[in-house]
Amino acid sequence: MTGFNQPLSGNDMPRFAGPATMFRLPSQPVTDDLDVAIVGVPLDIGTSNRTGSRYGPRQIRAESVLVRPYGMATRAAPFDSFQVADTGDVALNTYSLEKSVALIESHFDQVLAAGVKTVSLGGDHTITLPILRALHKVHGPMGLIHVDAHADTNDEMFGEKVTHGTIFRRAIEEGLVDPTRMMQVGLRATGYAAEDFDWARGHGAQVVPAEECWYQSLAPLMMEFRQRTGTDVPVYLSFDIDGLDPSVAPGTGTPEPGGLSAAQGLEIIRGSWGLNLIGCDLVEVSPPYDTSGNTALLAANMVFEMLCSLPGCRRQ
Ligand code: MN
Ligand code: MN
Repeated sequence: MTGFNQPLSGNDMPRFAGPATMFRLPSQPVTDDLDVAIVGVPLDIGTSNRTGSRYGPRQIRAESVLVRPYGMATRAAPFDSFQVADTGDVALNTYSLEKSVALIESHFDQVLAAGVKTVSLGGDHTITLPILRALHKVHGPMGLIHVDAHADTNDEMFGEKVTHGTIFRRAIEEGLVDPTRMMQVGLRATGYAAEDFDWARGHGAQVVPAEECWYQSLAPLMMEFRQRTGTDVPVYLSFDIDGLDPSVAPGTGTPEPGGLSAAQGLEIIRGSWGLNLIGCDLVEVSPPYDTSGNTALLAANMVFEMLCSLPGCRRQ
């Protein structure tokens, strides 16, 4: 065994008991001996339809009690590979989106300064912009895998430049993301204009609408992305749970029919293994619309798979 933090076992304490930290890991502050921090970002004032994703981090943690320490398909052993802890939530100002975005960026500045990688629990998708701003200061322009029903490349919403639907236009404009190393997967449904998905494409991004994913494995798509990107380019993975179909992930603010299956979501994350992943997030889980808890449970498993795909995660 290693000296790394281990999840509290369901054979030592019943899964429905004990502290509800992510994966039943210790809750501890960010220190430079951590490899990976799991950070909650309970923001939902950037959302445009249903609210509730402010409760996402807490509910994903609650459902994560069922996640066990080894990936059976991949044989991945993240808790034998990394020192991982639940470092709690960003202290937002829920009366101000602008101030909250600044608070998120400075929080991540501090985590990254300690040399710690982050896997973040949203919160609405606005949180990804300040995370990318912080990462850019360390890594420069990044590749991006963006799973979503929506392109999130609006210029503005209600006159606002920073909302959950504008972040990737800002990220490209600000040079945080290299659009030629960017892939958007799962886009679909209805838009404000027929050209809505073309903006990122026009900057060189690969856009894979949901219709092109139906009825097939996404493993080849991920293999192509890995071959094109290589092992050195820093890549961020941002997973909006509404990329998945509402039949498997109903608990979200802007659901769209005809989305990816849970298995396809797993293929995307597992297919990120081998890239230089520098951080991940899982956003837009809205527990008030998740009456079965399945959305948060799936999200918790997706977050586990993200840990398994970080570079250096051992396979046994
Ligand atoms: Mn989104
Ligand atoms: Mn979305």
